[in-house]
Amino acid sequence: MFEKVIAQEKAKKILSEQIRNNKIPHAYIFVGESGTGKMMTAIEFAKILNCEINDYTKSNFGPCNHCSSCEHIQNKTFPDLHIINFEKQDEIVEKDYEKGKAKLGIKLIRYMQEKVYIKSTNAKWKIFIIEPAEKMTIEAFNCLLKTLEEPPDNTIIILIAKHKETIPVTICSRVQTVFFQPLKNEEVQAYLQNKHFMPKNTAENIAQISDGSIEKAETLMLNTQNEYSTLWKELTLKKLPIVDILLKSKSVSTSRDKALETVSIITENATKSFRQNPLKYVNIIERLLESKKYLEKNANPTNVLDNLFLYINSKI
Ligand SMILES: [Zn+2]
Repeated sequence: MFEKVIAQEKAKKILSEQIRNNKIPHAYIFVGESGTGKMMTAIEFAKILNCEINDYTKSNFGPCNHCSSCEHIQNKTFPDLHIINFEKQDEIVEKDYEKGKAKLGIKLIRYMQEKVYIKSTNAKWKIFIIEPAEKMTIEAFNCLLKTLEEPPDNTIIILIAKHKETIPVTICSRVQTVFFQPLKNEEVQAYLQNKHFMPKNTAENIAQISDGSIEKAETLMLNTQNEYSTLWKELTLKKLPIVDILLKSKSVSTSRDKALETVSIITENATKSFRQNPLKYVNIIERLLESKKYLEKNANPTNVLDNLFLYINSKI
C-alpha cells in the first residue's frame, strides 16, 4: 500500500489498518529524523484517500498513481492538499519583515484554519501537512489546538516533527503518533543502487555514513559525484604536471574501496564523454575496465591509479 516508502513497516502497518478499517483519526504526528520517509508517507496517504480509481473502502490496493487526484497530489497541486511550511508562510505574509522568520507563526495557522473550514472542492479528504511542526510558536500551537478540538469531517491534519518532546503535550494527546525509524545501512544502500544506479562499493560507503537518512545519503551522493566529476574534468581538460597527477592519485587511493569507488564513478563520467566522442575515449574506457580488474585482483591501489591517471592525462 505504501510501496514508494522505504522500510518503516510499523508505520505502514498502523496506517494501512486504519485505512482498511475505515477508522482514520483526524490528526497525526509523524515523528522521526529527516530523510526517513515522513513526508513521502503523508503524500502517499493523501493519494490513497483521494484516488479516483482505487477505492480504499472497498479494496486493499494503494493509489493508482495515474488519475487526476493522484497526479495533482504527487505534484502538490491538488486544491485540497495544503502543505503548511516556511514557504507557505512567506507566501501569505504581506510585509517584507514578516518573511524569512525562524518560526511558524499564528498567521500561518489562521490561514490554515480558513482553509480547514471552507467547503472542500470535490475531494474525498482534505489533507493538511504541517512541517516542521516543532518550529511553531506557542501562539500557533494554541491556535491549532482549537481545530484539533473541533475537527471538521473528512479533514486530516498531519504534523511532521523530528522529536515528539518538542510538541506540547496538549497537542500530542489529541493526535495519533506514528514513529519513523532511521533506515538500516542495507536499506539505504539498496535504495542508492536501485534508484540511482550507484555502484555497490560507493553505495555501501555512503550508506554507512548516512545515519539512516535518505536525505543525507542523497546529499552525500551529490557531493561525491561532484568531487569525481571535478577530478575527471581536471584529468581530461589539459595536460597536468606529473606531480599534480600523482598527488590526485594518492588522495583517492588511500584504500582499495576508495580506489574502486573512484574508478567506478570516473567510468560513468568517461562513458558520457565516450557517447559524444567515441574515438577519443574508447582507449580510456578500456583502461578503466582493466584498472578495475587489477584492483579486484589485489594490485596496489596507488600504483593502479598512478598509471591510470597518467594514461588518461596523456591522451588529452
Ligand atoms: Zn489515483
